[in-house]
Amino acid sequence: MTDTKPYILDSSKIAKITSELLEKRGVTKLAIAELVHFLQKEYFPGLKTEDCLVHVDAVLSKREVQNAVLTGIQLDILAEERKLLPGLQEMIEHDESLYGCDEILALSIVNVYGSIGFTNFGYVDKLKPGILVHLNDKKDKDIHTFLDDIVGAIAASAASRMAHRRQAEIEGVTTPPLD
Ligand code: MG
Repeated sequence: MTDTKPYILDSSKIAKITSELLEKRGVTKLAIAELVHFLQKEYFPGLKTEDCLVHVDAVLSKREVQNAVLTGIQLDILAEERKLLPGLQEMIEHDESLYGCDEILALSIVNVYGSIGFTNFGYVDKLKPGILVHLNDKKDKDIHTFLDDIVGAIAASAASRMAHRRQAEIEGVTTPPLD
């Protein structure tokens, strides 16, 4: 470490980088909102994809989520650059089904939003709807071993937030502030 300045966390920088990095890796907020719509449409008659966007934004504003996104994408990029340790490199490169740390990292996102998030995460992981098909197709040189789980987890968390918010609205509860 050559930087002599004391380290101070810059939260707005982390939020900005997270948002930019997702776009750069081909994941738009709208694509995540489409997954949320897929998960919640039967519980919210007339639900539009745009209605889901606010929940995607809210999930992405959480520090735990940003940290997981950055860490996961960084590992995918290092794998593409073949900079990982031997053994780990091959497992991430080939999305080894017995590896599992990609799912565990994504659970740190779902963890923030409770059991509805957990069940929806498992559901999209199995079904792989929408953008998850592309992230899993392995047709190009891009490696998305971590990103596919992260995107599924953000969508599952946004779906959970939507469900809990609806109940709060039904009950007219506006305090304490919900995140
Ligand atoms: Mg994966």
